[in-house]
Amino acid sequence: MKVFEQYESNARSYCRSFPTVFNKAKKSIIYGSDREYIDFLAGAGALNYGHNNDYIKQKVIEYLDTDAIAHGLDFHTSAKEQFITKFCNAILTPKNLEYRLQFCGPTGTNAVEAALKLARKVTQRTGIFSFMGAFHGMTSGSLSVTGNKEIRAGISGIANDVTFMPYPDGKRTNFDTLAYLESILDDSHSGIAKPAAIIFETVQAEGGITVAPIKWMQELRALCDRHDILLICDDIQVGCGRTGSFFSFERAGIVPDLVILSKSISGYGFPMSLLLIKPELDIWKAGEHTGTFRGNQIAFVGATAALEYREKTLLEKEVKLKEFFLKKFLNEKIKPINDKIEIRGIGMIWGIDLGEFNNPELAKKISTLCFERGLIIERVGRGDNVLKILPPLNIEMQILQQGCSIIQEALTDCLTTSIYNDYELEKVSA
Ligand code: PLP
Repeated sequence: MKVFEQYESNARSYCRSFPTVFNKAKKSIIYGSDREYIDFLAGAGALNYGHNNDYIKQKVIEYLDTDAIAHGLDFHTSAKEQFITKFCNAILTPKNLEYRLQFCGPTGTNAVEAALKLARKVTQRTGIFSFMGAFHGMTSGSLSVTGNKEIRAGISGIANDVTFMPYPDGKRTNFDTLAYLESILDDSHSGIAKPAAIIFETVQAEGGITVAPIKWMQELRALCDRHDILLICDDIQVGCGRTGSFFSFERAGIVPDLVILSKSISGYGFPMSLLLIKPELDIWKAGEHTGTFRGNQIAFVGATAALEYREKTLLEKEVKLKEFFLKKFLNEKIKPINDKIEIRGIGMIWGIDLGEFNNPELAKKISTLCFERGLIIERVGRGDNVLKILPPLNIEMQILQQGCSIIQEALTDCLTTSIYNDYELEKVSA
């Protein structure tokens, strides 16, 4: 560990919660120097198809072996052509969706930046509405639409004309955001200008696993149509099948104007991000959102193979079955441990909210106990109080059950035995 502590920046994050040196991984298991761990973090959503997926790996090896293009700026290449063709044939056309594909810089945040820039350019307006609890990335534009005040500290003073509205979160507030939005937009003296766009996640993941109701999303779409505001869906974490369907907004039957994909789009954890643009909005001039790493060919090969893999394995059906298991397990085995525990989720993203205990150390303690027992599970949401269950979509059922049992045991030990009572937790936090 010494080399990391001595030389790596203080900015490092996940590694602090999971202090071991990882050196190998397969499917839903990641191997540390000390032992193996079930991975319920899955590269923060970048590994929906598991670590080192055999099907995707084989395609990448075959590609590399021919000395094909590895880095291609935004040249036309066969790897990119194959990805575009597959994405249109397997995803867009069957879903009756018409989008242009913009390949952005390698990480999600760059595609968020592109979406915000394009929305402002198209509408000639500057404002953006975002939601409390939102997470959209760490560069200034995407951070300006991210709610977490602690991480926004770095951009104070350049908040970029962003107005935050309450997300439909029955737990925190029953505030009727859509009625409020309507009154802002209808009132010429509301003090808030009509925005270029509203950016939203269908499930706030980093925000604490809050699932937007279908009706709310439909009304949000209708409101944007009525007022000529662009709707941007950030599907970086919960897209690519995480909620069941390929796009998470499909369950509401809505079509956003701009859609942002990254994380699992490349299938193997290779950096890649994609902005989907309704054709009439694609008014970029050549080179207006450029970047050296928009042509990661290995990522394109992985992404094409990932779409093939989805079809071959009937992944959507598998996710439905596992969703059923997770919902049942969490409600029947975890919730009864203590009535302060709240369960939320959809598809294969679930949260165990421990916020009601008012103990900032509790979720951290559970995560640490899980790690000691061979499970990687991260915390999200206000106060990091929510344990986030985010396994690879193709995790074996038996390993999924094993991981869930580790959480059950850790919670039971912590909440019902005297070894880890509140007094002990206070000591831990002291
Ligand atoms: N948007 C959402 C919803 C995310 O979950 C993330 C990352 O967690 C991002 C944007 C930023 O993506 P990246 O970390 O690749 O820049």
